[in-house]
Amino acid sequence: MSVSAPPRLRNFIDGTWHAPAGAEYLPVVNPATARPLAEVPLSPRDELHSAVVAASRAFRQWRFVPANDRAQFLYRFKAGLESRLDELARTITDECGKTLAEATAEIRRGIENVEVACGIPSLLQGWNNEQITPGIDEHCFRQPVGVVTAITPFNFPVMIPLWFLPYAIACGNCFILKPSEKVPRSSVLLFELLEQTGLPAGVAQLLHGGREVVEGLIDHPGVAAVSFVGSTAAARQVYARGAAHGKRVQCQGGAKNPVVILPDAELDQTTQIVADSAFGCAGQRCLAASLAITVGEARQPFREAISAAAHTRRVGYGAAAGVQMGPVISAHSRERITGLIDAGCRAGARPLVDGRTRRAEGDDEGFFLCPTVLDEVDPTAEIARTEVFGPVLSLLHADDLGEAIALINQAEYGNMASLFTRSGGAARRFRAEVEAGNIGINIGVAAPMAYFPFSGAKASFLGDLHAQGRHGVEFYTQTKVVVERWPG
Ligand code: NAD
Repeated sequence: MSVSAPPRLRNFIDGTWHAPAGAEYLPVVNPATARPLAEVPLSPRDELHSAVVAASRAFRQWRFVPANDRAQFLYRFKAGLESRLDELARTITDECGKTLAEATAEIRRGIENVEVACGIPSLLQGWNNEQITPGIDEHCFRQPVGVVTAITPFNFPVMIPLWFLPYAIACGNCFILKPSEKVPRSSVLLFELLEQTGLPAGVAQLLHGGREVVEGLIDHPGVAAVSFVGSTAAARQVYARGAAHGKRVQCQGGAKNPVVILPDAELDQTTQIVADSAFGCAGQRCLAASLAITVGEARQPFREAISAAAHTRRVGYGAAAGVQMGPVISAHSRERITGLIDAGCRAGARPLVDGRTRRAEGDDEGFFLCPTVLDEVDPTAEIARTEVFGPVLSLLHADDLGEAIALINQAEYGNMASLFTRSGGAARRFRAEVEAGNIGINIGVAAPMAYFPFSGAKASFLGDLHAQGRHGVEFYTQTKVVVERWPG
């Protein structure tokens, strides 16, 4: 039996699919089986230059297409996404590892952004004053900024590109996506669907590659704005490089999300929500709960309940029926996470549930790591401070809400923090005092809807305008003020 070579993925540039000349290729691997799915090109500089030139050319006309006409392409794109939703979900599961239900939920959140961007005629509206002085009026318009690019991570292969693409093109910009080289097949599907909308050549382009391509895009004088989502270390580099060129940059970075459980929290519901947050998507969400801080008498009952939930979670191939958690993205990632657990235990943590020693259902070659719950974690230990990005929940304890808030606010990151309680007063204090951009009250993954900003803070975000909704429209447009007087 002959084994066919994995397909080589192509870029979508200037309205056509082609393989970049002279590119090196990386394998794209199914993390549940360790088997290759495809090969992704690391595009050379000439290729990115071609993409920017095509985008700049397309921009000259696209910016003058009426906003309502631009929105029509997005309506068609939404219809395409709905019609191939199952195929998209399967593609995400195969290359990213999450379950089909998680993949479907991710696509839904992505589609929501397309829907919001369809409202671009209203979102783009400026404002004006008649008669600022006798005979003179003043207007403020929003105009597109030019060629823009987004660099996206592995953990939401469809949703995160859709935080940017719909708003960018709806505003009249031309857009280049550089997806994660670990999950590029989902982006290929997205661009096949975009192609079917009849979008003019050069308006949206797909450019595969790694760090070098990102740096080339940031440095290219034809690129006006850079959106980035990924680790904080890379976000800092991208932000500094873009800012050095005087460009608009928005960088969403890593996270270390705490949830606080007060003694009056509803235990069963809280446990289920926190377990879904910590272990859903194998802990590879930027909004995953990573620290659970119990207050007062919540400690013992929550410790027991969360251990039972972690222990019984079914781990295996995300496409298999009944599986609740898939693998982590790579062997390297699994080693990094087990290394962090090892170090946490050496620093005094006690594993209540040890994912290192449990086998997942299915393929032994996959990069599985079962849920882990660590108790008695020292708040100053690395496991309590650093982003784990895996299915590991560390338990901390505080005597009162004030102490829990102090523990949260001393952290480097500020992506999300959640409180579990029945007390409105405690909730009000929490949302006022906690230094995080997304707050959940009895919510485990406080992911803003597409018409709210995805509001990370501190080391979880560099910039001022976030992804999604109005922030997206403001990021992708330049204001222009016109003061006018007409003779006679
Ligand atoms: P990553 O930083 O390794 O890669 C993200 C993207 O940046 C990829 O496209 C990659 O090719 C590129 N890249 C990597 N290093 C780079 C560098 N030094 N310079 C320029 N580009 C570089 O991240 P990942 O492992 O793909 O994703 C996981 C990370 O993303 C986690 O830290 C997670 O918290 C974060 N994340 C954050 C959010 C958020 O909204 N804050 C959302 C999703 C993921």
